[in-house]
Amino acid sequence: MNNLKKISVTGIKGIGEETAKTLKELGISTVQDLLWNVPYRYEDYRLRNLEQVGDAERITVCGEVLTEPSLAFYGKKKSKLSFRLSVEGQVIRIDFFNQPYLKAKIATGETVTISGKWDKNRAQITASKFKLGMQTQDEALEGIYRLKGSLRTKTMQKYVQAAFTMYHKEIEEIIPQVYLDKYKLIARDEAIRILHFPKDSSELKQARRRMVYEELLLFQLRMQFFRKIEREKAGGIAIDYDVAELRTYIDALPFPLTNAQKRVVNEICGDMKSHFHMNRLLQGDVGSGKTVVASIAIFAAAKSGFQSALMVPTEILAEQHANSLVELLAPFDVTVGLLTSSVKGKRRKELLLLLEEGNIDVLVGTHALIQEEVIYHRLGLVITDEQHRFGVGQRRILREKGEYPDVLFMTATPIPRTLAITTFGEMDVSVIDELPAGRKQIETFWVKHEMLDRVIQFVEKEIIKGHQVYVICPLIEESDKLEVQNAVDFYHLLLAKWKKRHTVGLMHGKLLPAEKEGLMRAFSSQKIDCLVSTTVVEVGVNVPNATMMVIYDADRFGLSQLHQLRGRVGRGSDQSYCILLADPKTEVGKERMTIMTETNDGFALSERDLELRGPGDFFGTKQSGLPEFNIADIVHDYRVLEIAREDAAKLIFDENLAENPEYARLYESLLASGVFTEEKLD
Ligand code: ADP
Ligand code: MG
Repeated sequence: MNNLKKISVTGIKGIGEETAKTLKELGISTVQDLLWNVPYRYEDYRLRNLEQVGDAERITVCGEVLTEPSLAFYGKKKSKLSFRLSVEGQVIRIDFFNQPYLKAKIATGETVTISGKWDKNRAQITASKFKLGMQTQDEALEGIYRLKGSLRTKTMQKYVQAAFTMYHKEIEEIIPQVYLDKYKLIARDEAIRILHFPKDSSELKQARRRMVYEELLLFQLRMQFFRKIEREKAGGIAIDYDVAELRTYIDALPFPLTNAQKRVVNEICGDMKSHFHMNRLLQGDVGSGKTVVASIAIFAAAKSGFQSALMVPTEILAEQHANSLVELLAPFDVTVGLLTSSVKGKRRKELLLLLEEGNIDVLVGTHALIQEEVIYHRLGLVITDEQHRFGVGQRRILREKGEYPDVLFMTATPIPRTLAITTFGEMDVSVIDELPAGRKQIETFWVKHEMLDRVIQFVEKEIIKGHQVYVICPLIEESDKLEVQNAVDFYHLLLAKWKKRHTVGLMHGKLLPAEKEGLMRAFSSQKIDCLVSTTVVEVGVNVPNATMMVIYDADRFGLSQLHQLRGRVGRGSDQSYCILLADPKTEVGKERMTIMTETNDGFALSERDLELRGPGDFFGTKQSGLPEFNIADIVHDYRVLEIAREDAAKLIFDENLAENPEYARLYESLLASGVFTEEKLD
C-alpha cells in the first residue's frame, strides 16, 4: 500500500510548523501532495544566440563582464545596477533593477549567465536572473510553482528535492506493464522527478505524457466503474418488445427517420431489451427529432406492458410534449396522460388512479411525476428532456417506488465530445448529428447597435407578415436592478415606437412562474406579436409562427447559448432570421459573432466555443460539475482522454480489474480515490 499519503510534510528536512501551514494553504499536507504538486509552467533558460531572439523576448546569454557594475539609487528603495557584457563578440548592456546586493557578486573578467528581456534595438537586457559561471544543460528549464506567503520557487524546489531523495523508492508503479509497454510510457517515479526538474523539453514531454495518461485512466476507470454499477443494477428491466410491431409504428410515421435517428433508436432499443439498466444521454441539436425517437422508446415499452414517464422542466413544455405524443401514439392505442399543477381535484385523482391501474402508458409532466402521490403500475422507462442531471435524490425516489426503470436523458445542448465523455462518462452517449432533410437554414446577421432603428423596422415588417418575434436581452449578473433593465428598456422603446400597432410582451426572471407560463401561452396562441425577454425563454419552447429572433448585446452570450436561443425560431415552414446586435470589443468576441453567421451546426459551434472559452467557462457559471485535473488538460489532451476511456472500459468490463493480480496496484489506487458511493455521482 502506498505510504506517501500518510507521511506529513513536516517529516521533510527544512519544513517546520510555519512552512507546513503555508503549504497547507496550497493543499499540500502529505509527501504525496508535495510530490504531485508539479510546476504549472516552466521557464526556459536555455542559452540562445542573440540573432535568433526577437525584440522584447526572453533571453538567456552567457558572457564575460567587461565593466565594473555601477549602482545608482533613485526614489524610495529603487536602484539600478548596470554593466557591460561581452557576448559572442558583441557588447551588450545589462541592467538589474532593485537588486543592489548583486554588486558585490559581479566583478570584471568573470563569466556569468544572465536571463531577462531583450531590447534588440538598444542591445540591452533587463535582467531578472543571474548566475556565476556557465549555464549547464541541467538548469535550462525551471519549474514555476504556485506559491503562497513567503514561499519561493527556490525553497519549493529544495523541499521537493528533499522529499524525492527520501521517498522516491516509495513511488510505486500503478500502470500495468502491458500498458506501459504498449504506449512506451516512462516509469512513475522518473516522471515525477522530471516534472519537477526537467533536463530538457523532450524529457518533459515524456513525463507529462505518462502522468496525463495515468490521471485520465484513473478518472475514466472511476467513470466506467460507475457505468458498470449502473448497468448491472439489481432488477434492471428487460423490455422485451416485439420488433415487427415496433416496425409498423416506425413505418407509419409521417416521414422516414434520418440515418442518425435510426442509429440512436437501435442503441436505445438495444439497451431496453437487455437486462442492463439503461443510463443513456441522447444529444441532438434543436429540431433534430428527439421527440419522435422518445415516442419510439415509449411505444416499445407500452407494447411490452411497461409505463413511461417523460419529465420536462416547465409545464408549458409538458403540454407541448403531451400534444405531440398524443398525435403520434394515440392511433396505436398508447394512452398519454398529462400531469401539471393545473390538473387538480377530481381530475387529478382520476388521472392518478388510471395511472396506478396501468391504464395510462406514458405520463408527461414536470418533477411532479416522481412525487409520492404518483404511483405507477409498472414503470419501465424514464425520459428527461432538457435536463442535464437526474439527481441522486430522484433516483432514490424511483427505487423506493420499488422500480428501477431505464433512464434516457435528452438534451439539445450540443456538448463537445471531450466534455461529454468527461462529465457524462458514466453514461452511454447517443448523438443525432443530422437534421431532417429540407430544413430551411436560419439566416443570421450580425449588426452594430447603431443599426437598432433599422432592426426594429425589420422586426415590424415581419410582424406585418403575420409572424412573431423574440427579442432577447442578456441577464446582467449580480445586480438585481440591472438584471431586467435591458429588457424593460427595450420593451418601452418598442411600445413608444409602435404606439398600439402591435402587442408586446415583457418576460424576465422576476416574474412568478405562473406569470411566465401565462406570457408564453399568450405568445404561442399569437396574442403577443413580439416577446421581449431575458434568457428565461431559452428552454425548449416551440412556437412555429415565430420567425425572427433579435439578440441584444449578443456578445455577452457564449456560442452554445446563442445557438440555443436561435433554435427558438426556424421551427415552421417559413424562412427565419436571427439578428445579433453587438459591438464586441475583443477579437474573440468578433470571431464569435462571425462564426454564428457562418454556421447553423450546433456541434461545430460547441467545439469552437470550447476552444475559445476553455472547458471551465463552457457551461457557464451554473455548471461547476467539471472535473479538475492536476496535470491533464482535457481540451489539449483529448486524444489521450479517448484512449484512456477505451482502456478503462476494457479493464472494467472485459479484464476484471478487481480480480487480476497484475492490476492490483491500479485497483488499489482506484479504491484509494474513495469515490465508490453512488452519492458521488451527482
Ligand atoms: P427536437 O426535440 O430534437 O428539437 P422534435 O422532435 O421536436 O425535435 O422535431 C422537430 C420537428 O421535426 C417536428 O415537427 C418533427 O415532427 C419533425 N421531424 C422529426 N423527425 C423527422 C424526420 N426524420 N423527417 C422529417 N421531419 C422530422
Ligand atoms: Mg424537443
